[in-house]
Parts: sequence; structure tokens; C-alpha cells
Amino acid sequence: MKLESDGRLFIGGEWEAASSGETFESINPATEEVIGSVASGDEADVDRAVKSARSAFEGKWSAFPPAKRAALLQKLAGAILKNRDAFAAIEVADQGKVMFEASKIDVPMAADAFNYYAGWATKLGGSTIPNAPGMLNYVQNEPFGVVGQIIPWNFPLLMAAWKLAPALAAGNTVVLKPAEQTPLSAIKLGQLIEEVGFPPGVVNIVTGFGPTAGAELVAHPDVDRLSFTGSTEVGKGIMRTAADSLTPVTLELGGKSPNIVFADANLDAASRGAITGIFYNKGEACTAGSRLFVEDSIADEFIAMVLDRARKSKPGDPTDMGTKIGPLVSAAQRDRVEGYVKLGQEEGANLALGGKRAEVGDGRGYFYEPTVLTVVSNTMRVAQEEIFGPVLSIIRFKEVEEVVLEANQNPYGLAAGVWTNDLGKAHRTAAALNAGTVWINTYGLYSAAVPFGGTKASGFGRELGEQGVRAYTRSKSVWVSLG
Ligand code: ADP
Repeated sequence: MKLESDGRLFIGGEWEAASSGETFESINPATEEVIGSVASGDEADVDRAVKSARSAFEGKWSAFPPAKRAALLQKLAGAILKNRDAFAAIEVADQGKVMFEASKIDVPMAADAFNYYAGWATKLGGSTIPNAPGMLNYVQNEPFGVVGQIIPWNFPLLMAAWKLAPALAAGNTVVLKPAEQTPLSAIKLGQLIEEVGFPPGVVNIVTGFGPTAGAELVAHPDVDRLSFTGSTEVGKGIMRTAADSLTPVTLELGGKSPNIVFADANLDAASRGAITGIFYNKGEACTAGSRLFVEDSIADEFIAMVLDRARKSKPGDPTDMGTKIGPLVSAAQRDRVEGYVKLGQEEGANLALGGKRAEVGDGRGYFYEPTVLTVVSNTMRVAQEEIFGPVLSIIRFKEVEEVVLEANQNPYGLAAGVWTNDLGKAHRTAAALNAGTVWINTYGLYSAAVPFGGTKASGFGRELGEQGVRAYTRSKSVWVSLG
């Protein structure tokens, strides 16, 4: 699969090579074949992109009435859906996600984000404040200006949509840097952004590496706001750099989410939720339910159910609509997962399933078996650190208080699952969990309308929903003396 815009950046409405002329290869993780040549942007390219975003912000984009912004966002949503097959094929080839997830979930959800935020473009009105006599006080919401956005490799198109849609709806212009592992869907999105008629420079896409293109975008003095989704370590570095210029940041970082199954739950549904919770997108999801807490009295039975289901989730050709588990995104990621499984066993966990590379087709590709570790204690590193792969750690518990305490004893606070038929217990547990999202008797649901984000090492700020678009506006209070 080759793209028309091979090896070029999207800056100021033009497709250009990186100023250094450098490119890098994008690899299909299922076949290890090169599928695209990508421009390696650096300081000079980021600077050009920020300048074009600035001039678009001060020029044409500010003159766009909100209703016209809404119409463009809707047009883009329609174009994404029209190109569903092409996007799905790119995501499968570039990321290794399976065709079912790419075409039935990622692509439609990306379109949803643009449609949802199209609605907000015309609804960001301010307020008037009753104040002193003879004084009119109004508060208006303004866009920040130029927004720098950096996204990860696990949901490339969807993350681009979650970032771009609210920023554009609020009237900002954007420089977007996709992950170096998965840049191709952002390039395709850039083509559609051009096609549907966004003015040049409103969206600029600079492909490249984190420490070069990414770091330059964060450090650029003319960026007014930053939004980052990725690892906690990189997020901390971004916040440090942003501190120098006092640029506001939103950070959506890692997770090690507890998925808690009480004895009174519907175990069939809970075992399904445990499996999709961890193996969705091969576990390369920040909300992966990677710590499965199971109440002792049903643990043997429930673990057997989970293992049964996990055995059926065989890795396979990701282009096949029936495949549930694709290859990990890269050799480096597979090595990392392997390292953690070895570590878990050294720590005393029992390897109940998987724990090795999977052979698919001709043996190429970064496939890894769905892996289940039992006899895990919450203090082990495999229960504390984010693995970002198909590795489930199962921990037993006896009391509600104990499981809540242990679930919260983790650096992260992104999401959690609770499975029980006791309504009171469900809500009490949800209230006690330190997490940005809690799913009760379900797992891994998202909507463009529902805020998403974390606590503690999972970051701060919320994407999606009303909060997600407000985050891209700042208020201005105007005092008028009525004389
Ligand atoms: P992972 O470790 O899972 O690859 P990262 O946090 O490294 O996740 O990557 C997420 C995004 O952050 C990618 O687009 C990557 O290029 C970018 N990135 C990595 N390092 C930096 C950095 N120092 N400054 C800015 N962006 C970075």
C-alpha cells in the first residue's frame, strides 16, 4: 500500500518534503514489510507549520463564522465515512489492529468525534454578569490560537480525531504530530482536510520522531496550547518544557486499570468483559483492564472461564474480518511485552496461558499470544507498571474494602471496571475508585459526548464531551462603563 503523499508533510495547505530531505519507513507489523516512506520533520518544519497555523488563525480562520466551521467539520466526518475502507486498510497495515476493530469501531468513532464537535462550534457562547450599576460585564469564550497536538500509535486515526475536532470547533488552528510508528492515517486525513475545503494552514501535519519533531513542537514559543496523549514519562517531560513558556497542557497518559469482579456478578458477561478489557487492540490501549481482581469465592470457576475465552482469542492475519488479535505494533513493543512476562514469572506469578510469540502465516510479524498471569499480587511490578500488551494479571480478593484499597494502590488512575448485581455496591465502589472513568457491568465504552481522562500518573484534563471543547477556549471578561 503506497500513499500519494508519500514522504511529505502537510504545511500551509501544501504537501512538502521535510526541509532536511530526510524520510523514514513505516513498517507493517504483520508482515515486517515497508508500506510507506514518511517525512522526518524537524525544527525548521515545525517552525514553518507553526507560522502557517498562526497566519491561518489570524487570517481566514478567525473570519470563519462558527456555523461554517461546523459545516466543514461535518463534511470531514462524511468524508471519513466515505473513505472507511481505505482508512481501515491503512490502520490495519500501519498499526496491526484487526480489520473488525478498524472498520467497525475506530473509523466510525473518528467520524463521530467530528460530527459531535461540529455541533459545539455554534454553542460556545459566553455570559453576562449582573454587576455594579452603570456597568456591563460580559464574558466571551475565545480560541487559544495555535494548538500543538501530539498523538500515540495505538489508535492513530481516532486520537487524531479526538484532538483535532474540539480544537477546530473552538476556532483554533493546529499543528498535529502523529506517532512515528503509525503516521499514515494522519496523512490520509490531511488529504481529506484539504479536499473538504479547510483553509490552508488551519491544520498542519508534521510527521517525525518524538525527540525531534515532537520536542520542537512542545518547545516552540508561538504555540498557545498543547495536548498530548502518550506515555507518562514523555508527558512529564512535556510538562517540564511547557512550564518554561507557561503553555497550558492536557496530558492523557498511561494506565493500569483494575477490572473488579464480585462473586454476585453475571460471570458470563464479566468474563467477556475481562477478555475485551485486556485483549482489545492487543492490549495496546491506555484503558486496558490489565489488573483483573476476582473475588476469592468464585475465583477458580471464573479464572477457568476467562482462560477458556482467552484460548479462543488466537492471533491471526489482521486483514481478516474474523481475526480478534493482530500483531503488536513493533518489534520493540513485542520485546517489552516479553520482558514483562518473564519478569512476572520471576516475581512469582503463574503463567496460566500464552507467554510466547505466536506463529502466524509465514512466521513473520510481531505476534504475541494472549497471556494470563495468575497468582499475582498487587505489589508486583507486573501489577503496577503499564505493559501495553496482551498480558492479564489476575489478583484474588476477599473483601470490598480490600479490593478498593488495592485497586487504588497504583500510580495510575485512568479507568476501572466493576462487575456486580448489587446496585449499592456497584455505585459505592465506583465512588471509591480513583479513576477518570468507571464502567459498571461493561468495559471499554466511549462516546464523543462523554468526558475522558485520568487522575494521578494518568494525567489531567479531559478530552471529549463539553469539557473537551471548553479546554480549547479561554474566557475574556469585558467591563464596559455605560457612562
Ligand atoms: P510510547 O512510549 O508508547 O511510544 P510515547 O509517549 O513515546 O509513547 O509517544 C507518544 C507520542 O509522543 C509520539 O507521537 C511520540 O513521537 C511523541 N514523543 C516521544 N517523545 C517525545 C518528546 N520528547 N517530546 C515530544 N513528543 C514526544
